[in-house]
Amino acid sequence: MSAPVENVTIVGTGCAGLTAAIYAARANLAPLVLEGVQPGGQLTTTSEVENFPGFPEGVDGFMLMDNLRKQAARFGARFESGLVESVDFSSMPRVLKLADREIHTKTVIIATGASPRMTGVPGEKEFFGGKGVTTCATCDGAFYRNMEVIVVGGGDSAAEEALFLTRFASKVRLVHRRDELRASKIMADRALAHPKIEPVWDSVPLEVLGNGSGVSGMRVKNVKTGAESVIPAKGVFVAIGHKPNTGAFAGALPLDENGYFLPETGSQVRTAVPGVYVAGDCADHVYRQAITAAGMGCQAAIDAERWLAEHEG
Ligand code: NAP
Repeated sequence: MSAPVENVTIVGTGCAGLTAAIYAARANLAPLVLEGVQPGGQLTTTSEVENFPGFPEGVDGFMLMDNLRKQAARFGARFESGLVESVDFSSMPRVLKLADREIHTKTVIIATGASPRMTGVPGEKEFFGGKGVTTCATCDGAFYRNMEVIVVGGGDSAAEEALFLTRFASKVRLVHRRDELRASKIMADRALAHPKIEPVWDSVPLEVLGNGSGVSGMRVKNVKTGAESVIPAKGVFVAIGHKPNTGAFAGALPLDENGYFLPETGSQVRTAVPGVYVAGDCADHVYRQAITAAGMGCQAAIDAERWLAEHEG
């Protein structure tokens, strides 16, 4: 017996994947949704989400994702665990290769997200997600009103996070491993000119310090002098880049120089392969918000539905 051919297979269950699942399921396409290593995506690591429209009191990140999943399931989305290891998009139906099986599908929505890079120092993992270590100033900055915080990194993200945090924090220390920022000149100049931002040059994190009530600071080492010191802080924002989860699709779809999916000109979600769409952080290094990912998931599902309508005859 030949394997069934899916209408729509959605890879990933963050905001983009689950929104695509809701739209595809409501269009009666019975989408198959593949859950990877972090069901619910990056928001499940955040405690309170205050900027997702529709929740005046904020919403717990895990609960929000659980609700999206239930909403998709209610309309007929089917969930399976599975990691796509490679794909064959050269013929129809498209083939997704998992460790233990192949999935044949007419359309694919890839919403595999991006993983923030972490420094890996002791304490970082323990205090991650609501306990003082975070990777998203837009999400968590408002929790640090009148407190001292640290941003780790020297790129555009670090400069942008540091500037955003000046709205809330009393002091933002920018810990960077070299003595000049990698960020674009305009962002670097703006960050360094801000009275609340103090650069800590040539320094790498050694340990995030804290106790039962959360983070209290970070031990850093000056790589030029070898001197160690402790910087007090209630929040540590790690901004050393993101890694888009696109490896399994390399070769089958165009990627930009940072490994993000490169959609077709004029669309955020259409790719060079007909019927294959991308959505969310795996294809967006600019906005990276839950709501923008959800918007891309919606677009991808509508495009997939239209593609099926045109090609099913
Ligand atoms: P990035 O440009 O790769 O910068 C990462 C920064 O983290 C670098 O300064 C790097 O140091 C540092 N770093 C990396 N690994 C580290 C480690 N293990 N320990 C300590 N520091 C470490 O990443 P990004 O800032 O996220 O930006 C990614 C892309 O998005 C860039 O093309 C950027 O221009 C773009 N972006 C644009 C905007 C904007 O235009 N508004 C905003 C955000 C991002 P070194 O400098 O020493 O390598």
